Amino acid sequence: MKQVSCECGYSTRSESEDQIVSTVLQHVAVDHPDLAPSVTPDVVRGWIEIVP
Ligand SMILES: [Zn+2]
Repeated sequence: MKQVSCECGYSTRSESEDQIVSTVLQHVAVDHPDLAPSVTPDVVRGWIEIVP
């Protein structure tokens, strides 16, 4: 399982990297619009943690 935890406390997990990336990009667009321009799919992939 893969997980991304946002600094705001939001987290999401999925087996699918593509799913995580799209979910996190949507979260950033809604809750952190100031960060959205600098958060690319590659940046989100860098945030992924592997969890059991
Ligand atoms: Zn957040």
